[in-house]
Formats: sequence, C-alpha cells, structure tokens
Amino acid sequence: MKKWIMMLCFALVASLLAPQSQVDASGNFEDIGTNHRAYAEINYLVNLGYVNGVSSTHFVPSQQVTRAQAAAMLGRSLKLDGTQRATKFKDVSSGNFASGYITEMVERGIISGYPDNTFRPYKVLTRGEMAILINRAFKFGGTSVSSAATILMNKGIAQGFPDGTFGAGATIIRADFAVFLARSLNADFRVSTGDVAFNTTMYVNTPSDVLNMRSAASGTATVLTKLAHASTVAVASSENGWSHVRANGYTGYVATNYLASTKPSSVIPVDKSNLTVVIDPGHGGTDPGANGFGFLEKNVVLNIGKHMKTYYDKIPVNVKMTRTTDVKIELYDRAKYASRYGGDIFVSLHNNAFNTAANGQETFYYAKTAATNPHVAQSRALAIYLQARMQEAWDLADRGVNPFGYGNFAVLRDNTVPASLVEMGFIDNANDIKYIRDEAQRQKMAKYLVMATLDYFYHYEGRKDVLPYYTTLGGAPSRKLH
Ligand SMILES: [Zn+2]
Repeated sequence: MKKWIMMLCFALVASLLAPQSQVDASGNFEDIGTNHRAYAEINYLVNLGYVNGVSSTHFVPSQQVTRAQAAAMLGRSLKLDGTQRATKFKDVSSGNFASGYITEMVERGIISGYPDNTFRPYKVLTRGEMAILINRAFKFGGTSVSSAATILMNKGIAQGFPDGTFGAGATIIRADFAVFLARSLNADFRVSTGDVAFNTTMYVNTPSDVLNMRSAASGTATVLTKLAHASTVAVASSENGWSHVRANGYTGYVATNYLASTKPSSVIPVDKSNLTVVIDPGHGGTDPGANGFGFLEKNVVLNIGKHMKTYYDKIPVNVKMTRTTDVKIELYDRAKYASRYGGDIFVSLHNNAFNTAANGQETFYYAKTAATNPHVAQSRALAIYLQARMQEAWDLADRGVNPFGYGNFAVLRDNTVPASLVEMGFIDNANDIKYIRDEAQRQKMAKYLVMATLDYFYHYEGRKDVLPYYTTLGGAPSRKLH
C-alpha cells in the first residue's frame, strides 16, 4: 500500500499537463464551482488521484484531451504502473510524463501507436476514439466506434448530441472525459441504469433560494446538492410527492411540489393589485406537531388552511400557502415566504397540546422591541382580530392574545410582514377535540379566520374596499377591536 501511495504522489507531482507546485486533493478549482455540471465527477476523480488540474487552482474543463493525457488518466484509473520509462515509440521519450502509462496501455491492447512507429502523444482525442478506449479499458465489449458509442449510451455513461448522433468525430474536452471516466468507474454517476430515462424537463420553483436534492424519496435522506430557484432539472418519474431527477451532475429526489413545467422568473412576480394573505399550515412531513385522540396537528391545520383557500378563492384576495401537501418546510423558509410572494400578512395555523387538561385558544405575535420583524403593532392588531374570530367560531376557553415569549416562533420573529400564529384549541383535550375533529367545525373556523384577516385590513389598514367581500362570504365586519 505504501509503495502505491508513493507512486501516486510521484504521478501527481509529475502532473500530466503543466508544472504545479502543489496539488489540491480536495479539487477546489476556481473554474469548477459547485454548480458546474461535472463538479461531482471531477472531484471524485481528483480525490482518487486519477485526474489532476492543470494547476492547483484551475482544472480548465474546456481544454481538449490529448492521447497522452487520456492514456495517463485511464492508466491511473486501472492502477497501472506509471513509472516513466523508455517506450518503443520514437516520439515518446522516457521523460514524457505519460511514458509509463502509454507502455502499459499499449501492452494491454487498449491503445495503439501508428504504423510509422509514432504514438502522436499530443494529438487530440475524438469522442469516437474515447468511446473505443473506454470500451477496451473497462472491457465493455464495443469494438467499432459505433458499437462502442452505443454501449456507452446504453450504460448511461455517454449521451448523444441533441441531433441524436454520438458526435464521434468531435474532439472531447476535459470536463466530458472526466464525466465519462467517472461514470465508467462508478455506476452511481451514470445518467440512467436500465430503463430509467430522465427525459422530461422541469424547473425549480421554490419559495426558498434553494431546493434540496436528496438521495432517496424522503425528507430525511441525505442532501446531495442544492438546486437554485428557476434552474432546470431532468425528470424521470414522479410519485408520492417526490420526483426522480437529474441535475447538477447528480441523480436524486426532490419534492414534486417545487417543480414547475414552465420556467418561473428568477424573481417571483408580485400581483400588487390585490391583497395577498400567506397561510402557513404548521408542521408537516416528518414533523407531525401535536397529537391527541388519533389526530395529528399537521393534518388538522392543513385541512383548515385548504378550507381558508377555498374562501379566499371566492373573493379578490390572493392567497399563498406555504404548503399544500404533507411536507416538512423549514421555519426559515416559511418566514421568507411572504417577502418572496409579496404577501401582505402571514397567518400560521396550529393546534396546542399539553397535559390533556389545558384547553382553549390563543394567538401569538412577535413583540420584542428590537424586533427582527418590525411590524409589531400590525402583528398585534392582526392577532386581536384572529383571536376574536376564533372565539366566535368555536366556543372554547379564551386564552387571549399573547406577545411572543412562550416559544421561539421563528415564523413570527423572522417574518417581514405582519404575522400572527393561532393555536386553535388543544388537540389532546377532550372538549377541544370535539371541534378539532369535526369537518364542519373546521370549515367554520376557516371562514372565520378569513373574515378576521378582512377585519384587520378593514379596521387597521383602512381598506374599505374589502367590505363587499364580507357579503360574498355571508358575514359582516367585526367591531373595531385594536
Ligand atoms: Zn404547532
């Protein structure tokens, strides 16, 4: 093992491309950012010592690959003896960095010289030649350019050009060679295995800046990479709220919720002609929230949130929901939602639970003087109207309107608009659950919470234009309470 490491160090120092004082084995090349399409593959190969940068800081992904370079990269991948030595070719001296690998590769019949006893080490490689070399090196079986290319495409190692051809006569660049080499060595990098084809183009549409791509269809699976809002993904299939996708050089899973079939603008357009309410059903996915009598808070609040949306859809008030399915959303992403979607106010929906005896409803707002959310007075007014309407909807104990202090409610603290959080009863209390479990009561609660937001706009913001909306909903403004 020691001997091999010594050899590897020697090979690295005697870089195949250019003099370099130092090799950064972590592959942090300035010209290969984390979003580079070949980032994962290049770093994989660099960490194994199979491929180097042209310097410690640059990989130069678009540079063409010469025959000598290809021999060295493949030779290292096959763990051949790269010790420099005399060769049988008149144009490859023992001083050539790849002389050892060229000799070994020729002996194994993977690469050959020319009849005039030359190897032409500086001749650039074509994609067709690359296909043959990889087929021979990894014993994939292709012997002609077309059979070698077909095998690579079928294995998900290479993809053809958009016109459907393999592009056998085109030269190959370092980034592509690295991608094909990594995929040859490790099936995890391949575009497809078996019948999986990533042939539907979709776009990331997330309220957050980034969307996590995970190793499996689960919110707790390892995050492979983060996809930017409005970036492109290739989708193979979608089921149970997850899509199997390829992007950023990774294959993994993203929440289908955050994919759109048309490209969203990088800044989400805001409709300022109408008011916009952000409804935030708490918890979701792996976070069930409180529970009692067989009911989970995450399901109850999503149900009420959807009913609220149905009421908003009847009136000219825009509604945005932080989630419409059973998914977990980070609190920070919820708090950013209003600014991204141009929300005017933010209402977070929750149920409480404590010791089965505690009961009633309460509403929170963020009230610290050095508030991250500066809308303290507005948030308090919103909370007052929400609490009053909750009491009107469900005949439960009144725990009042409470300034922030009981819990670290990031959705309130870090929000950028007036924001309040309602606790619609105790899910573990025998009296409160009678309302929480009843679909008609949940629908009623939704309607009253919607009217509470109208009360806030009407009384606090002075929006008299909302008056006819009450009529549509079959209600009337509350009295002024703030
Ligand atoms: Zn909760």
